[in-house]
Amino acid sequence: MAELFYDDDADLSIIQGRKVAVIGYGSQGHAHALSLRDSGVDVRVGLHEGSKSKAKAEEQGLRVVTPAEAAAEADLIMILIPDPIQAKVYEESIAPHLKDGDALFFAHGFNVRFGFIQPPAGVDVALVAPKGPGHLVRRQYEEGRGVPAIAAVEQDATGNAFALALSYAKAIGGTRAGVIKTTFTEETETDLFGEQAVLCGGASALVKAGFETLVEAGYQPEIAYFECLHELKLIVDLMYEGGLEKMRWSVSETAEWGDYITGPRVITADTKAEMKKVLTEIQDGTFAKNWMDEYHGGLKKYNEYKSQDEKHLLETTGKELRKLMSWVNDEEA
Ligand code: NDP
Ligand code: MG
Ligand code: MG
Repeated sequence: MAELFYDDDADLSIIQGRKVAVIGYGSQGHAHALSLRDSGVDVRVGLHEGSKSKAKAEEQGLRVVTPAEAAAEADLIMILIPDPIQAKVYEESIAPHLKDGDALFFAHGFNVRFGFIQPPAGVDVALVAPKGPGHLVRRQYEEGRGVPAIAAVEQDATGNAFALALSYAKAIGGTRAGVIKTTFTEETETDLFGEQAVLCGGASALVKAGFETLVEAGYQPEIAYFECLHELKLIVDLMYEGGLEKMRWSVSETAEWGDYITGPRVITADTKAEMKKVLTEIQDGTFAKNWMDEYHGGLKKYNEYKSQDEKHLLETTGKELRKLMSWVNDEEA
């Protein structure tokens, strides 16, 4: 069973005694910086020259300096910029300012797990990752609630790294909901696997294959779009609220019967064998290496895949159909 920690397990005064630098002011960065400040923590935001989010951070009452200045001032540095650029920013602006006893924090273990960032031995290295997008994290905090989070320690130089991570999690509302203890390895590998095999990769391939099957059989793309993409939201909402059980309770018995007998014909033992290969390539670092080569080599294949899918009939059909559904984009806004 997972170990869970709540408000009473965390001591807010630990983080209140630190000087925190939040590097980045995007989805997670804005939520962490604002909630840390509202929890009485001394926080500054580190942003690069020409940053678009700088004005917003200042408008919201935060002090913005460069990443190097933030790292020099602070004794806890939380890195909340996109994963592929973290190693470069770390080398140039953060590493030169790390002192023994400082703490280096992350919200995703990617760079540490695969060795792109190798912090010095005297520094605590920990992870605090809310299980939700930054805007939800911030909104829940303001409403006196919190989004569950996970916390992990990779390097415990001071002997107090986990207590520090829990204290940080408390300051952003995480312990109000519950914090699960994990490791950098578990967080990183499960996160990459989930998004590739199920959430993003698996779901989009499933939707595309279903849509193509109907269209190739002569059905109208608009009808195929509704059946294979649009209605997925209703199904996923039900799963989110009450698991497979609530989804199956809500759909018709016919749909439920089709679920039992057809699901395993589509996601077969072969699919699961392929998932195991995907997991192995994540675990042995092949995926991370290939992705960083692709990213730093100018994203050629990435852009090819992207533009191919933008032209897919599923996407062009959906673009027109969503104009008929005024509430769809209201919801997104
Ligand atoms: P974002 O893409 O939202 O971060 C963008 C921010 O980084 C902006 O403020 C941007 O500035 C800034 N930035 C870009 N380049 C630099 C630079 N060279 N120096 C300083 N700042 C820079 O990131 P996320 O919040 O999505 O992700 C941050 C971390 O959190 C990642 O490790 C991610 O895996 C993790 N995570 C994300 C979750 C999410 O919901 N998004 C959930 C859990 C974890 P500007 O735009 O102004 O140029
Ligand atoms: Mg991810
Ligand atoms: Mg139907």
